[in-house]
Amino acid sequence: MSAPDYTVRSVGNGRFAVFNAKGVRVSGLYDCKDFALTRAESLARQARRQERPCLTCAKPFMSEGIHNRMCNPCRRDAAGKAYLGDPSMTQGAASGGLPS
Ligand SMILES: [Zn+2]
Repeated sequence: MSAPDYTVRSVGNGRFAVFNAKGVRVSGLYDCKDFALTRAESLARQARRQERPCLTCAKPFMSEGIHNRMCNPCRRDAAGKAYLGDPSMTQGAASGGLPS
């Protein structure tokens, strides 16, 4: 893993808060550093989770990370095609190539 997007810092008086990569405070103040660390982890997870266009159908969907680039219907579809030996590809080739 690279450098964390969120860091926990002491803000004085024994309290802690979460700061983003730009040094902006993005959480409330916590009396316990563990609470702040938990918050930082959840913020980092949320930051990775964002709406991305599906690689296959280009429809936006909630992606859990850069590894996750296909929406659920397409993923299911791809898994089904792989299982069936991708019949749509052979049909497309047989009927005169791919539509432009
Ligand atoms: Zn899709």
